[in-house]
Amino acid sequence: MRSQTLASLSVLLLAAAPLATAAPQSQPAYPYDVSNAPNRTPPTWRRLSDAIIRKIWSLPHTQKSLSDDNGNAHQAATEQFVSRYGDDVVLRFKIQTADEAKALAEASDVLFLDVWEFNEDWADIRVAKDVIPSLLGLLPSSLKQSHEPLMQDLDLAQAVFDSYPSSSATQSHQHDHSYAPSLKTVSRKGKGGHPFLQDYQPLSVINPWMKLMASMFTTHVRQITVGTTYQGRDIPALRIGVHPTNNEVPSGPRKTVLITGGSHAREWISTSTVNYVAWNLINSYGKDREITRLLEELDFILVPTLNPDGYVYSWESDRLWRKSRQPTSLRFCAGIDLDRSYPFKWDGDVLRTNPCSESYAGSAPFEAVEAQHFAEWAKNETEQNNVQFVGFLDLHSYSQQILYPYSYSCSDNPPHLEDLEELALGLAKAIRVSRKGHAYKVTSACEGNVAVSSDKKHRTILPRIESSGGSALDWFYHELKVKYSYQIKLRDTGSYGFLLPKEDIAPTGEEMLDAVLYFGRFMRGRVGLVTAKNQDARIHEPADEEWELVDHVEAEDKEVIEL
Ligand SMILES: [Zn+2]
Repeated sequence: MRSQTLASLSVLLLAAAPLATAAPQSQPAYPYDVSNAPNRTPPTWRRLSDAIIRKIWSLPHTQKSLSDDNGNAHQAATEQFVSRYGDDVVLRFKIQTADEAKALAEASDVLFLDVWEFNEDWADIRVAKDVIPSLLGLLPSSLKQSHEPLMQDLDLAQAVFDSYPSSSATQSHQHDHSYAPSLKTVSRKGKGGHPFLQDYQPLSVINPWMKLMASMFTTHVRQITVGTTYQGRDIPALRIGVHPTNNEVPSGPRKTVLITGGSHAREWISTSTVNYVAWNLINSYGKDREITRLLEELDFILVPTLNPDGYVYSWESDRLWRKSRQPTSLRFCAGIDLDRSYPFKWDGDVLRTNPCSESYAGSAPFEAVEAQHFAEWAKNETEQNNVQFVGFLDLHSYSQQILYPYSYSCSDNPPHLEDLEELALGLAKAIRVSRKGHAYKVTSACEGNVAVSSDKKHRTILPRIESSGGSALDWFYHELKVKYSYQIKLRDTGSYGFLLPKEDIAPTGEEMLDAVLYFGRFMRGRVGLVTAKNQDARIHEPADEEWELVDHVEAEDKEVIEL
């Protein structure tokens, strides 16, 4: 693995030279404005991507495409997926009563089923086809009827197969100029831009890409490490921001927004979205007035994957792996759910502790070394490094929800409930009016984890489908006092679930970038989509309903927002 990473890095660094020299660095205001650079696709990304895909699937060098129906390697890979996932199906159960929720939770526990996702209306559960009769036998008769398979037209094994990048995906765009990197233009209006952002990427590409960003954009990007994994990998992050150097007034703590992904390994869209946001912030500095100001006033720390061991495992062994790779008391059931292992309201001791569970909380709080290291790092930043975390966006998938604290219980309201809801609704609106943005629901994280009666008059809290204590969301909000802490579940709402097609990478990235920019405006006291002062920022022409918001914003424009 290490040699593979080093090889990738050397390829990338070789590639960095022509890209870096293409940027005229003699313009102090816009040090990386390469608007005159030729519009060309760097073949390095294709070569690197193809090489890694070949390495993972042991494809011969001449194999042109994983999707090539004629290839023996394709057939071998397909058989591999069918043997692993072909017997499984994901069922969506519509939940309406407490009895149904309770029975489903108990049955999932008894049968060690993999609960993919759930909200107040439904629960998606992965189950082997031959276990379905046993599952249905444990459920009330109403639930036996109210379920249907996800990905109806698509076999689970095929969906898994399709989620890996194919070398043809890049080759087919070889002469397509829309596929060129966004070095030529500011990418806020564009598509995914850089080829790196068109496919899901393995860690062996993400790590050197981050190094490359830090080496190319030294004015505003630094690579940092926020911890080490159980297997000894670094957990890398990018710190993006420009600190004023000639400010004689002693500055207070540096306001910083933390954006994380990949806590759950199989949620690849969360990792790709962090990278998408990172690239657009990096690439827009010095070109886009609003983003330039934003990076002068705030730091962004972006962690594409908090769980590198699990992420690598999801690429190389099991696409549907969720937890870390840390051993447990049961030899054949490795892994701790990082998002259950924080000490605030950790509930591993009161729930049945089953290391084989997909949401195993560990045998003690912070047993998962990744969570422990990350929390220690964050605490140290605030106590030793003059950092004030003003926002925490923990990206997950799927179900399109913006969730605010608390996760562990609905009976306890956070002190800043109204503020949290207000900003969450703003984020959801920013996403909805984004380019082809989707609808995201705003709710408490406890409700995302607890079925609530569909009879809205009586919001009876139904039994949990899964435990929800010990979350990163609650820990950062309550222990680290990050006032605006959210968990955001990205696309989709169940068509593909974790196996979201790569065509969704850029649109999901775009809508989350718009949410992050809204977040930044909110932090700078400029809530709203467009204000009079930043109309020169290159934002799309607002629709009528956006102008209503602008009017509202302008009235409050000078109001200082207390953080
Ligand atoms: Zn997750």
